[in-house]
Amino acid sequence: MGREPLRAERFDLDDPEAVAFCVDCAAPFARRVERCVTCGSEDVVSRETLIARLESEEQAPGMTDPVELVRLSTEDEADLVRGALAEAGIAWAEFAPETKGMLFPPVGPTIRLYVERADLERAQEALTVLDEPEFDEDSP
Ligand SMILES: [Zn+2]
Repeated sequence: MGREPLRAERFDLDDPEAVAFCVDCAAPFARRVERCVTCGSEDVVSRETLIARLESEEQAPGMTDPVELVRLSTEDEADLVRGALAEAGIAWAEFAPETKGMLFPPVGPTIRLYVERADLERAQEALTVLDEPEFDEDSP
């Protein structure tokens, strides 16, 4: 059962009154509701949640319900995480902004790994092995 991508243009995010949106039919609501009155869907989310979801989707194309798993600053760290995910049989998507040639490249973690929401718990579990002391450079 695949879901359509969210597509930002369906949602009227410019409407200042709209604090919640139906994910299925894009109907805006001026208050939080449990269920969409237009289509009956229970997938009504706050403006903030919708924006976060749209962002994840843009950065993890091809996934149906991506959530950000981790942000990493180096390829070495990313390799460890990729290895752990591959071993656990979990698919992931990556978003790494092109920083070559940028006058002021961003500092801090820039490599973002996304997994399907359904795999999130398993993925987090797979990453706990990376919390071993030798992975944590700050430990004494
Ligand atoms: Zn609806």
